[in-house]
Amino acid sequence: MLLTFYCLLFYYICACLPGAGLKKISMSEYKFGTNAIHAGQEPDPTTGAIMTPIYQTSTYVQASPGVHQGYAYARGKNPTRVALEKCIASLEYAKHGLCFSSGMGASDAIIKLLRPGDEVIATDDLYGGSYRMFTKVFAHFGIVFHFVDMHDEAAVRKHISAKTKMLWIETPTNPMMKIIDIAAYAKLAKEKNLLLVVDNTFASPYLQNPLNLGADIVMHSATKYLGGHSDVIMGCLCTNDDKLNEQLAFIANSCGAVPGPMDSFLVLRGLKTLHVRMERHCSNGAAIANFLKSHPKVEKVYWPGFPDHPNHAVAKKQMKDFGGMISFSMKNDTIEETRRVMEGTKVFSLAESLGGVESLINLPSVMTHASVPKEERERIGITDSLIRLSVGIEDIEDLIEDLRQAIG
Ligand SMILES: *Cc1c(COP(=O)(O)O)cnc(C)c1O
Repeated sequence: MLLTFYCLLFYYICACLPGAGLKKISMSEYKFGTNAIHAGQEPDPTTGAIMTPIYQTSTYVQASPGVHQGYAYARGKNPTRVALEKCIASLEYAKHGLCFSSGMGASDAIIKLLRPGDEVIATDDLYGGSYRMFTKVFAHFGIVFHFVDMHDEAAVRKHISAKTKMLWIETPTNPMMKIIDIAAYAKLAKEKNLLLVVDNTFASPYLQNPLNLGADIVMHSATKYLGGHSDVIMGCLCTNDDKLNEQLAFIANSCGAVPGPMDSFLVLRGLKTLHVRMERHCSNGAAIANFLKSHPKVEKVYWPGFPDHPNHAVAKKQMKDFGGMISFSMKNDTIEETRRVMEGTKVFSLAESLGGVESLINLPSVMTHASVPKEERERIGITDSLIRLSVGIEDIEDLIEDLRQAIG
């Protein structure tokens, strides 16, 4: 009788403890889609709220000077951001994740690992903003950047010297949709003791996991597929290396390009549908690439899913599918014709950026890649009439009809 009483009392006390009775799950045993929804997140211990609260706070109360629960000041750490960092890390199969106020903020932190005199070899065909930051900001601090066609490993090797510290890869490249063999460069990086960084924005962790292929750091503009709804600017990076993570977290806290809790919440929410959105981006992308390829007015379509794409075999090896990013040129490649097509779409919005649920059409030479000098652009293949599409997740019939009427 007394025992029953004590048992009931024990139960009652337990039930009143914060977080009692709520299941905690270890994410490493689950697959991608389950992690996208649950990793890093537990029901709120005080209320049971299923969604991670937006901890809109700059500081945390301490019990006694220096005595706190791991949170002292929100530039260093915020619980909403921590949940997001854990979730993203799980999707890249990484030990550590760090979030930044933008993709450029994440890239900035990575380059700050270097010292004056250090050299970086980067993909020649890369995000215009990365090119601008490397050449217009970090070049002034004595860091030297070489932009090399990474299909040619011999050319990359030729640029490696004792000063080379980092390889910077983007694949698929933007906007030419070239594919670079991550595993091959991971091997070269190990051989030459270089850090291999992969900007994985275009593929998203659903299609490609660079750390599993031997990269040291994977970086994302979470503004794109991770957030997925064109409503937030955010960046992140992941690594398996404890020391690198410590250095990068130190830079993040010291330099301060951290995201706010509301933005962290938006990306955390966006991630929950990443796997489902990516499936549709890929199937819509394939249908549109094939439609454009068969269109009599279209000259060339750049999409890694075509068997005759020069790097199709590498794409098949390192990517799960081929994504929703497509570039193309018209047979009549005058600026007037290009503008006519771009102004004529109704479902595709004429805008920079990519990776959101809505379809976008963009002219790299004038919009996303205007900061790359014209000679450099033309050498890479970014002509004044090259059009880039970010295929969204609308109904495919509507998207194809929209392009059909715009191309005419
Ligand atoms: C958008 C983008 C970036 C920069 O990210 P922001 O979030 O805009 O700062 C970097 N790399 C690639 C490939 C991008 O598309």
